[in-house]
Amino acid sequence: MAKIIGFIGLGIMGKPMARNLLKGGYALTVYNRSQPVMEELKRDGATLGSSPKDVAARSEVVITMLPNSPDVEAVVLGADGVLEGAKAGTILVDMSTISPLVSQQIYGEAKKKGVKALDAPVSGGEKGAIEGILSIMAGGDQEVFEAVVPIFRAMGKTITYMGPAGAGGFTKLANQVIVAINLTAIGEALTLGAKAGLDLERLIQALSGGMAGSRCLEMKGPQMIKGNFQPGFKTDLHYKDLGLIMEAARALQVPLPTTSIVQELFSALRVKGRGGLDHSAVITLLEELAGVHAHTQS
Ligand code: NAD
Repeated sequence: MAKIIGFIGLGIMGKPMARNLLKGGYALTVYNRSQPVMEELKRDGATLGSSPKDVAARSEVVITMLPNSPDVEAVVLGADGVLEGAKAGTILVDMSTISPLVSQQIYGEAKKKGVKALDAPVSGGEKGAIEGILSIMAGGDQEVFEAVVPIFRAMGKTITYMGPAGAGGFTKLANQVIVAINLTAIGEALTLGAKAGLDLERLIQALSGGMAGSRCLEMKGPQMIKGNFQPGFKTDLHYKDLGLIMEAARALQVPLPTTSIVQELFSALRVKGRGGLDHSAVITLLEELAGVHAHTQS
């Protein structure tokens, strides 16, 4: 069983995921574009890599957790990238949310070098990453998936094999449709409640126990009524996902009318300078439309 892991991309998600691998007893070499977080991981017991190539050369399994498709392409396929350093038989697990079409391309390029690639994006947010209870949705060859299940178990609780390369990514896009629309629906419901003079904490309590209850309401509702939009998951990244969703929907000829409206709301949030806030900040736009100014930012 593989015990030597490389981890590239130590942001909101990657840092706690890497920490859980250290806690699980894996030997870890890490690399991130900015340095301070690498020092933190070093204090936790990780070895520091000097480039993605260097990380790959020292590892049996390489995990990437980067913002978007171009970042993963650069880190995996680019100069000093993972494929330059990886030995045949190395497993590459990209856990970022990127275009499933790019995941399929990476699978093909990796295969030429004898490297086995999985796309395995996650859901569950920063909290899920810290607690090691992420939902991990994987695409690629099933025997490769089976080989890394013990590693997934150190970071997640619901671990699902979805099918061939790209299937994990398409699953994550479906996930992001629901989360974006759900947060917007919660934003509308809380704004309606505010204008009606309801006690919003009690409103969340009442809604949570019925058909309207959801993980989004549970995790984000209390922060939304406090106006705490520290990310979590940045609006900029969810807007990126909405772009990937619409691109996939066009390729597959699937009209997504509600998602397209939500995409425009997220675009407006970014125009207003709120792209760095948590995606639950979509409520601030809805409050503005309704003339409720409780949480209006900038
Ligand atoms: P983030 O912006 O906090 O972290 C990204 C990290 O990658 C940063 O530390 C950055 O320095 C590093 N990085 C970027 N380019 C790099 C490069 N070329 N080489 C090395 N390091 C590089 O993002 P995040 O919130 O951790 O999200 C990462 C991925 O996970 C995204 O695809 C996101 O959509 C997805 N995701 C995020 C959440 C969430 O709640 N935050 C949940 C599920 C999935």
